[in-house]
Amino acid sequence: RLHNEVIELKGSIRVFCRCRPLNQAEIANGSTSIVDFDSSRENELQIICSDSSKKQFKFDHVFRPGSDQEAVFAQTSAIVTSVLDGYNVCVFAYGQTGTGKTFTMEGTPENRGVNYRTLEELFRISRERSNIINYELFVSMLEVYNEKIRDLLVEKSNQPPKKLEVKQAAEGTQEVPGLVEARVYGTDEVWGLLQSGSRNRSVGSTNANELSSRSHCLLRVTVKGENLVNGERTSSHLWLVDLAGSERVGRIEAEGERLKESQFINKSLSALGDELQAHSYSTKLSRKTLTKTSKTGGDCKTLMFVQISPSAADLGETLCSLNFASRVR
Ligand code: ADP
Ligand code: MG
Repeated sequence: RLHNEVIELKGSIRVFCRCRPLNQAEIANGSTSIVDFDSSRENELQIICSDSSKKQFKFDHVFRPGSDQEAVFAQTSAIVTSVLDGYNVCVFAYGQTGTGKTFTMEGTPENRGVNYRTLEELFRISRERSNIINYELFVSMLEVYNEKIRDLLVEKSNQPPKKLEVKQAAEGTQEVPGLVEARVYGTDEVWGLLQSGSRNRSVGSTNANELSSRSHCLLRVTVKGENLVNGERTSSHLWLVDLAGSERVGRIEAEGERLKESQFINKSLSALGDELQAHSYSTKLSRKTLTKTSKTGGDCKTLMFVQISPSAADLGETLCSLNFASRVR
């Protein structure tokens, strides 16, 4: 069932590609970039393959290694802030481990990412609208690993990982019973909150990086709005998702089990839980209604960052990710 719904999603996902810079180790061993950008085309890139043939890819936007967090957010801002207008929004970072998914979403203290910048912008716009709409913002953070869910806003020592449980609530939204929803009032507290959630991501396996590459990290922002003029109330969710490393899929492909794009999305969506399943479902419904009733967009928006490495050593994974991302778009 999900399979069909996911296929319906095709075409309604916007895709941004981001290429990280060569890192110190790659520079030290003499690697050069296999990714070419055309100075006049902001949404295209070319991959130079090992036989020096070139493969071209086109996305909604392409961020080069020199693009900073601010430039990335400038393109992302409109879609994430539409949660204030009652849209359900989902942004996810997809790609091989080490390509910058966490850098894009979470960022570093000096180079804060989409998650923090989004909250900052949501606060700014809600202040701007405060004489018309009263907004309340809530933040939840969870990790999905092996189909188990961990509440990242609860100290690790206080909770064993629980089986993922998602309950259908009113108005087609989903609830994860018991999940902490922290009311947030301003940017001052938000960075600390996100950082403490991030620290609670599973470590303590033999290899922390191995684990983070196999778990999804989800930040959910719930926006409740009350229109002070007509009393209308809205509640919408924005999901900001740092997906598990895509190389696992490549491995399966190498084992001869050819993976179609829909199967992969299916898999990753079900791993993320029913919330995202409902997300794709509501997209389908809204697109149906859309053609019948209105010219405005559906009530649900999806953006995917496909993250890539510029290194020749990663050519195979890079092509897999880019091919996949071109197919969902
Ligand atoms: P992933 O989450 O996909 O495994 P990370 O976000 O951990 O990858 O990135 C791997 C390393 O590369 C980190 O040290 C990160 O800071 C760095 N990095 C990733 N993207 C960029 C970028 N656009 N600019 C500078 N450094 C980056
Ligand atoms: Mg990461």
